[in-house]
Amino acid sequence: MRFALVSALALPVLASAHGRAGVRHHVVRDGTVTSSASSTASAPASASASASAASSAVSSAAASSAASSAASSGSAVVSGSASVAATGPAMGTITFTLASTNPTAVPYSSITFNAPTQTTHAQTTTYSAGSVPSNIPNAPGIPNWAALNPKDYPTLDKTPPLDSDEVKQWIQEVANSGVPIPDFGPTNLGGCANNTAAAANASRCWWTCGGCERDYDVTTCPTKNNWGLTYDDGPSQYTTDLLAYLDQQDIRGTFYVVGSRAISRPALLQAEYIQGHQIAVHTWSHPYMTTKSNEEIIAELGWTKKIIKDALGVTPLYWRPPYGDIDDRVRAIGMAMNLYPVMWTRISSTQTFDTLDYDLAGGQATPVEVLDSWDAIMNNASQIDTGFIVLEHDLFQQTVDIAVGYILPEALARQPKYNITPVITCQEMPMSNAYFETNDNSTNTLPAGEYR
Ligand SMILES: [Zn+2]
Repeated sequence: MRFALVSALALPVLASAHGRAGVRHHVVRDGTVTSSASSTASAPASASASASAASSAVSSAAASSAASSAASSGSAVVSGSASVAATGPAMGTITFTLASTNPTAVPYSSITFNAPTQTTHAQTTTYSAGSVPSNIPNAPGIPNWAALNPKDYPTLDKTPPLDSDEVKQWIQEVANSGVPIPDFGPTNLGGCANNTAAAANASRCWWTCGGCERDYDVTTCPTKNNWGLTYDDGPSQYTTDLLAYLDQQDIRGTFYVVGSRAISRPALLQAEYIQGHQIAVHTWSHPYMTTKSNEEIIAELGWTKKIIKDALGVTPLYWRPPYGDIDDRVRAIGMAMNLYPVMWTRISSTQTFDTLDYDLAGGQATPVEVLDSWDAIMNNASQIDTGFIVLEHDLFQQTVDIAVGYILPEALARQPKYNITPVITCQEMPMSNAYFETNDNSTNTLPAGEYR
């Protein structure tokens, strides 16, 4: 373990492009917690560069912050081995027997950061203005996506400026909401290790550093074997393949969309929505939200709510903070803007329901590690009394390949059967409660109303 930690810390800015530590923790079948250094330790520099190039949403600040956060994550490890660091990027084989695979799946050993770029599939179905999703009886018709003009929105992948009329109005609305915003300041980039006082301050309730959550955070599904299926960071050019598979299997999930991606592919966002998936907010430019000022947080959430409303005609009532980076200040601003936070299930610091799929694209995880990690999640799911919410992504070819080729076919084939649904559905609410315009206030109190 020591070796693993040192290897990870020795990395420059090559740690996970998604901000997770270069040291990962796995729970094996017997419940033993192990850790392994990221394969980044021996991966070429181009791994990280490739991921960054593929996603303009990933900033170098985020990557360097991730390198720093390896330290705090590593400190929580109680035992483990450095098997991956010792063997380098060697693939190995998965430790369980696949119950099912998609016959058209890419061989899993090929789903790596340097995999050849595949041909993407154009969106086959676009929906005309006025279309409504069949699972929201009171939904307004969708607008004409072609009328949306990126020039009417902020620069992609940057925190929007604070001096626009829109942001000024949202700042005023937050002030008028009656929701008290804690007055502690932003954190520094670098996670818990670079914010020791904030990390130790329980009154901040900073999820990143200890997993603190509030009653209104959505972190699980109440009923055992119910699986809240989630995909973050899209819509991307690979989302069409994921949507096609989900439609074929009659499965629906929740998409936490980045505003910069939504204005880039509004017709695809409409397809997600009309085909019955839940759409929720994941910020405009994918920053660490606790590092942002109150006004910047408002701009990130406000513009993402706006592009979704402009494309769909409805405004989400749920959001997920990038990297799970939320504390009581960020929570309160979200609630004041009528957004409930949704995380992913976390049993302990070393047992979270994060598939690590994002690390495939950056070269920080092999497909074997991701599939073993997913198998560990399923074993943990069998041990808890509730259902669960799993973190996956639809931004990269690799994350979609592992989902449609392995994770979803496996999930469908396993016993006991999982009830795989959007998060709002596993909260035992109708899809209409996912949006402000269609919400039934008698069954789902609006977030800002929680404070009144
Ligand atoms: Zn994300």
